[in-house]
Amino acid sequence: MFELTGKTAIITGGSRGIGKEIALKFADLGANIAFLHYGDGENAEQTQKELEAKGVKTKAYECNVADFDAATKLVDEIIEEFGEVHILVNNAGIVRDTLVLSMKESDFDAVIAVNLKGVFNMTKAVYKHFMKKRRGRIINMSSIVGLTGNAGQVNYSSAKAGIIGMTKSVAKELGSRNVTVNAIAPGFIRTEMTDGMPEKAREATLAAIPMKRAGEVADIANLAAFLASDEASYITGEVIRVDGGLAM
Ligand code: NAP
Repeated sequence: MFELTGKTAIITGGSRGIGKEIALKFADLGANIAFLHYGDGENAEQTQKELEAKGVKTKAYECNVADFDAATKLVDEIIEEFGEVHILVNNAGIVRDTLVLSMKESDFDAVIAVNLKGVFNMTKAVYKHFMKKRRGRIINMSSIVGLTGNAGQVNYSSAKAGIIGMTKSVAKELGSRNVTVNAIAPGFIRTEMTDGMPEKAREATLAAIPMKRAGEVADIANLAAFLASDEASYITGEVIRVDGGLAM
């Protein structure tokens, strides 16, 4: 089994859903956790309590990943507080789904700002630190719709496809510094995000999954733990689907 003892991970969107499960899994493996949320204090408080119960150092930070200056300042603060950062998981994401016909400019801009620029902001914030230390792990949460496209998700799928380009580019920039950069492309995973889907769309998606079930947050957290571990030290620039075969 992998272990992350003595490592510190920054996880964006760690208050609930996939990010929370990644935080819990990393803590189980011994990592200290600094997680970001934006606007939901109650979930963050609960998550922090659950992480503390695992005996690791943990702190919740309220920060909008889309805000370049705030993200930069916060990462400096986390490095100061935790001493060193070893892993960055860019997981925060939002949806504003609708067809292009009815998509407002603000729907497009908001999704790109959080889901794509947020990944750039956080990556740039840890970049020098990882370069200097000559090691690091960056794990970016893409989506299978970044590979396949999806009607009603032009903003979201563009951001998720952009994350794949960013993952490969940063992997090429930082490979010689022993920093790996990989993307996870989840399919249909049960979280608040997918709970908000219309019933018809949910049924159609489930029917199209070869494994005939939705994924669980643990399915994503298990892969994130592997990618963060020493055992994955020669994997970089990769995009791994976790989707029950949906996008093959
Ligand atoms: P979720 O349950 O909606 O959780 C989203 C998380 O992101 C929350 O912790 C939220 O914090 C945080 N967040 C949102 N906007 C933020 C911002 N501007 N700055 C910082 N944090 C922000 O989502 P999820 O289903 O767990 O999805 C996690 C990631 O996986 C996303 O990138 C999503 O696109 C991707 N994904 C999910 C699925 C799926 O089926 N669920 C499939 C493919 C990809 P607050 O609680 O404070 O709002």
